[in-house]
Amino acid sequence: MSAQWIENEVAPLPKELKIERETHKLEKRLCRNVGQAIIDYNMIEEGDRVMVCMSGGKDSYGMLDILMKMKDRAPIDFTLVAVNLDQKQPGFPDHILPEYLSKLGIEFHIETQDTYSIVKKNIPEGKTMCSLCSRLRRGILYRVARELKCNKLALGHHRDDMLQTFFLNMFFGGKLKGMPPKLTSDNGEFIVIRPMAYVVEKDLIRWAEHRQFPIIPCTLCGSQENLQRKQIGNLLREWDKKFPGRLETMFTALQNVAPSHLMDAKLHDFKNLKATGVPDENGDLAFDEEELPAASALPGGLQVVQL
Ligand code: SF4
Repeated sequence: MSAQWIENEVAPLPKELKIERETHKLEKRLCRNVGQAIIDYNMIEEGDRVMVCMSGGKDSYGMLDILMKMKDRAPIDFTLVAVNLDQKQPGFPDHILPEYLSKLGIEFHIETQDTYSIVKKNIPEGKTMCSLCSRLRRGILYRVARELKCNKLALGHHRDDMLQTFFLNMFFGGKLKGMPPKLTSDNGEFIVIRPMAYVVEKDLIRWAEHRQFPIIPCTLCGSQENLQRKQIGNLLREWDKKFPGRLETMFTALQNVAPSHLMDAKLHDFKNLKATGVPDENGDLAFDEEELPAASALPGGLQVVQL
């Protein structure tokens, strides 16, 4: 009898309503993540002209979409200028982005520069083209930003890109170095921001499907995907599946660095360290084990397992 009552009370939601509710939650989460990153790193300020770099991939479409929503509700005034660099890769559908951006009614610019031919001419067959290609692209984007009077460049990298870069640098580059949410451009002229820093890739994939962005494939140049990046990407996805919450914990760690507990003498003056006689909770625990949160208290259901 009571089971009947309960079953009757919790009639399942119609499928369409469920999808609508999930999509609404997703949109709220994306806006919250982007808004929080903007606040935490003071990414966008009054009067900024932000050049939103559009590749035609899901990440940049998602970034523009969410930034436009944020702009409508922001307490400050700033301008978004969408920019795409058409590198003349064979088969690049050059009508897609102008059509999409025109419909949005946003200020935009398409820069056409045949870097594809330059790269093809200068890089021997079979060698990776990415370093020359991205160097050329960077120079062009800086010039365009200058011409459009933009002071900031927004890139669509998300949390998973940032973790991947961190592990790539550690595993293959011997550096503890990630992909920052905000930094000056290498020529010192602009501020580069990554408003999607707190956004997880899975959310961007779902958002792109929901919004039906006209995605342009990124394999047109024919360059092979970086094998090392692919390996790290697979590793992170595997961890995410096996140990839910691990990526979140690792991302939190990137925002919680203790230079005195690493070994970089440029960041911490180990040579001139003197005992102060004052207890320091961040001092060395000698033989004690580091206290980690109990398994039940770990974020996102993270479990401690014996490897
Ligand atoms: S994948 Fe192709 S377009 Fe992208 S940086 Fe490499 S060469 Fe350039």
